[in-house]
Amino acid sequence: MDGISIGDTNMSNRTSSGLSFAKRMYLPRAVGSGLGFFCVMVGIWPMRPDAWVWGLLIAHGFVWPHVAFQIARRSKQPFRAEQRNMIFDGFAGGCWAGAMGLNPLPSVIILSMIAMDKIAAGGWPMLVRTLLAQGVGIGLILLLPTPVLFPETSQAQMLACLPILLIYPMAIGMVCYQVTVQLTRHKRALARLSKTDSLTGLINHGAWKDLLKLEFERCRRSDQPNHLALIDIDQFKQINDRFGHLVGDGILRVISSLLSSYLRKSDPAARYGGDEFCVMLPGTTPDQAKEVLERLRQAVEDYRDPELPQLSVSLSIGIASYGEHLDTADAWLHAADMALYDAKRAGRNTIMLARAPAVIPGKAASA
Ligand code: GH3
Ligand code: MG
Repeated sequence: MDGISIGDTNMSNRTSSGLSFAKRMYLPRAVGSGLGFFCVMVGIWPMRPDAWVWGLLIAHGFVWPHVAFQIARRSKQPFRAEQRNMIFDGFAGGCWAGAMGLNPLPSVIILSMIAMDKIAAGGWPMLVRTLLAQGVGIGLILLLPTPVLFPETSQAQMLACLPILLIYPMAIGMVCYQVTVQLTRHKRALARLSKTDSLTGLINHGAWKDLLKLEFERCRRSDQPNHLALIDIDQFKQINDRFGHLVGDGILRVISSLLSSYLRKSDPAARYGGDEFCVMLPGTTPDQAKEVLERLRQAVEDYRDPELPQLSVSLSIGIASYGEHLDTADAWLHAADMALYDAKRAGRNTIMLARAPAVIPGKAASA
């Protein structure tokens, strides 16, 4: 099959997130292994190890981080490969602690630094696996025919531990900080997306309803006038049927950009749903609100697509002023909806103001 399936997409997402995980681990591993080299070097010095042990130590300190990254990078499952690398870190750390005769300070530092980055990267499950791997490493070395225990830490060994003790936690802290910053950015982007209509970039239905409630409460507290308008494209279904949905989508985008250019920056505008838009004009008189929307209506009527000269679009608009007679934000919206209905009934391509509320006898007198 030539097409890309959802399964392929999931797989490639997993691969790229596994790869970024491996990339994140690369720097701490390079710093930790490099600094750990000095710690272990001074730790195993008293044992007079063979040349191959020194070779192994150099390879682990300075070559392993790059090999580990390449293993993860070339793997089909980089996340799994990186997890295996991390377990190997634990095992190797255990072996070096054993090789130092469990010399208290360097052994504890090596084992705890390895455990620290594993818990930061993989939580408790990774910590448990790392501790087990460390135990296996220590056990393997202590099972050798002549295990040597080295219970005292010399001054030189203590000094050799200082760089890793000082620098490595900072490297881990920096990686954790970068992850936190990235997460915060993603969270903000997701929050923005959840309030945005993907086609037009305007706020969506849900976010608009929340905003409407807030504006309604603000109007109740202040004397500032406010107007709510519902805008609907005329005969949009026919436009879709005649020119296709892609053209229809383009029209929705054109209208949303006209909304942005004809309204003030502070005037909220939303795609209420389908071919309906909603705007608010705070601080305007009914005449001013009508004037602004009339300019928008005219701009849409004048709009011509050079590639589709026969296409014409028009809007019907219903406006409702905020007033004390409105009990809820929904009542305000309903008033604008009724005005929009009047505009449709009046023949479309027109603007209607909501009718004044009927005066209930006795209410004005008692107020
Ligand atoms: P009226 O003048 O009474 O408003 O007629 P109308 O055809 O505009 O009203 P109706 O509500 O029957 O049709 C709205 C149409 O909007 C129907 C639907 O196919 C279309 N529509 C809704 N959302 C989208 C969209 O995202 N893209 C496109 N292209 N069309 C959409
Ligand atoms: Mg319509």
